[in-house]
Amino acid sequence: SWLPVAVLLALLLGVLTFHQVRYRQSLPGSLPAALRRRALRVRYQPIYDLASRRCVGAEALVRWRRADGKLLGPDHFIPMAESSGQIREITDYVLEQVLSQLGHFLGQNPDLYISINLAACDVAVPRIDELATRLLLQYRVNATQIAFEVTESGLADTQAAQGVLASLRARGHRVLIDDFGTGYSSLAYLQELPADVLKIDKSFVDALGHDAASSGVAPHIIRMAHELQLKVVAEGIEHEAQALFLAEQGAQCGQGWLFAKPLTARQFRHLVERQKA
Ligand code: C2E
Ligand code: MG
Ligand code: MG
Ligand code: MG
Repeated sequence: SWLPVAVLLALLLGVLTFHQVRYRQSLPGSLPAALRRRALRVRYQPIYDLASRRCVGAEALVRWRRADGKLLGPDHFIPMAESSGQIREITDYVLEQVLSQLGHFLGQNPDLYISINLAACDVAVPRIDELATRLLLQYRVNATQIAFEVTESGLADTQAAQGVLASLRARGHRVLIDDFGTGYSSLAYLQELPADVLKIDKSFVDALGHDAASSGVAPHIIRMAHELQLKVVAEGIEHEAQALFLAEQGAQCGQGWLFAKPLTARQFRHLVERQKA
């Protein structure tokens, strides 16, 4: 009969759920320890000028090195850290790591910039600008060489976020609107944004296909960005045809596997050195 089968299934489901919950609960708990042990690692994905095909900077992307040596991607712990408030510590850690790993190198390459992802609560109150200023002084790095990325949803509390972003820009930092097109910002509101660059979300680059045969919405986003005097970085470029098409449409920069995957600080330095030679 079906009864033993149903009981077995229910048991199995229970065990699976238990493991899932325990796994998830164990993550935020061990984050402070991970920060202390410096188990978070920063990788750098190069950003290229689409016309000259030269690397102009990189985006800092955090990973969590687990006890077994595996690197856990940010999607597995950033959302949780955002709701627990631990994201501020991650942001500070990433900023410190970027400057300690690349501060000296940035000093030698004044045209290069590194952009750092901010969460909503990083721009909800003025805080990050002070740490940035202190670290820039300590490592003698120009503010133009540290950029900040914030998503549309990170700008939910518009008033406060605008103040923080405006102050970052007043200090010389660039501000990038990340994952653009996946949120729900109105055009009127976009006009008010203290930003320098729109990053076109990967989903719109994907939509171009590998041969960029269908034009989709990416060209419209690029045109709108230009009307708002914003530069464009397209993310997730995997195919040559996409890079060509986006450049032709007026996107200045791009990043993606076509150019490079996220690299260690040392690999990133080598890439820039090779380019200079
Ligand atoms: P994001 O800021 O939009 O970063 C781009 C993501 O796309 C990265 O994933 C990158 O590795 C991936 N990517 C880039 N090019 C390609 C490509 O050509 N193909 C494919 N398939 N993927 C590509 P990652 O590193 O897993 O980061 C995911 C998200 O986690 C980031 O999205 C960002 O929102 C968040 N994140 C990463 N580091 C930090 C951080 O330090 N702080 C905060 N608050 N969020 C972070
Ligand atoms: Mg980003
Ligand atoms: Mg992005
Ligand atoms: Mg994205």
